Amino acid sequence: MSQKRLTPPRDGSNSGHPTKRSKRLSHTDKVTRDNCDVKSSEIWFEDGNIVVGVDAATTERGSGKSVSEQRFLFKVHKSVLAMHSPVWKDMFELPQPRHNDMDETSEDEYEGVPLMMLQDGMKDVRDLLMLMYKPIELTFNRLDSGTVPKVSGILTLSKKYQIDKFREHIAQILRQDWPTELEAWDQNDAYIKHRMKAMSSGEIKSSFPEPVSVVNISHEYGIPEIRPAAFYHLSRVFWRFYDDDCFDSPRRTSAESRFAEHALLSQTDLRNFIFGRDILRTRMMRFFQRLKYNNIQGTLTSKCSETTVVRKWPCQKQYTDWWTGAHELLFSLPDEECHPLRLYDPLDTLLELISDLTTWDAKTTAEPTKSFCLGCRQHVISLITKEREYIWSNLSEWFSFVQ
Ligand SMILES: [Zn+2]
Repeated sequence: MSQKRLTPPRDGSNSGHPTKRSKRLSHTDKVTRDNCDVKSSEIWFEDGNIVVGVDAATTERGSGKSVSEQRFLFKVHKSVLAMHSPVWKDMFELPQPRHNDMDETSEDEYEGVPLMMLQDGMKDVRDLLMLMYKPIELTFNRLDSGTVPKVSGILTLSKKYQIDKFREHIAQILRQDWPTELEAWDQNDAYIKHRMKAMSSGEIKSSFPEPVSVVNISHEYGIPEIRPAAFYHLSRVFWRFYDDDCFDSPRRTSAESRFAEHALLSQTDLRNFIFGRDILRTRMMRFFQRLKYNNIQGTLTSKCSETTVVRKWPCQKQYTDWWTGAHELLFSLPDEECHPLRLYDPLDTLLELISDLTTWDAKTTAEPTKSFCLGCRQHVISLITKEREYIWSNLSEWFSFVQ
């Protein structure tokens, strides 16, 4: 008597997912065709003792395409599936219900081994099995637009089949793109800026991850630690430009070239996003006012290496010139522009100020006016550094505020 078709439980956990996923067969999945069945050449082990199948109907349903009778098949091992998933382990250990004679057909098995049909997307099943069998070949490029669609499928199935180890593995991949440490954020941002230099606007839009999908996936699969970085990035991306001239501004920062699906935020997240963004911009304005010479004079007088008994703070004029120039650069609105763009990305703007202060000597060698002294500069740099750290450490609170 042939073994019967194994039917996994349906829990509906893969329905209604907010993240878009490709439903097409991956071009990397080289296949051989046998009638209506498509065997995976990547995941087809001759010594396997179970075939996992996905109906094309499952994959294509809702896509608007006509539903075919094609099946995608993967030949694997019960022991490997059971080792990863307690759901499959229990299923394999339980005696399968006997079918009546009418069901005694070849659909219950495939080439002599049991056939387990899954009600999941082909690409998701393929990625899940690749992670089990060939994890090195399942690559995730750094800060790539394809990462979230790929991991969302694996997370859906990991949740459904209780494969906790994979959920943590995927969370680690997402944390690399959306880190909890400021240093890692800075490295990622520098990497993106470097890549963007050689890209057109269209390439930028399609190359980098979209932050709202990251926010949504963090909620759905319990990965809250990636949310602050995603919200911060979202806060610096324009919902839309009302004028192309704004988009073409020469002073545009790298983040403003990026793309976000703001409209896909939940109502709560949209409110949190607006609150957090407003706090960030207010905070930036206030911090810069704090750096104005009359607000900082008392401290800088004691830090200034040029201070003498006679001259209390000789760097005052040079410092004031620097502050005025920086204020003009960051917050003024020249005629041809529409937004004080540098206000929108405080972490990047403050980092640029630190860079300017650090490299002042090299830049001003030929200048007749002396820069303000190293003691003053180091103190201002430490204030800006602390402000950046303060902003970063408060993102979670600022973007999660709900009245
Ligand atoms: Zn000084």
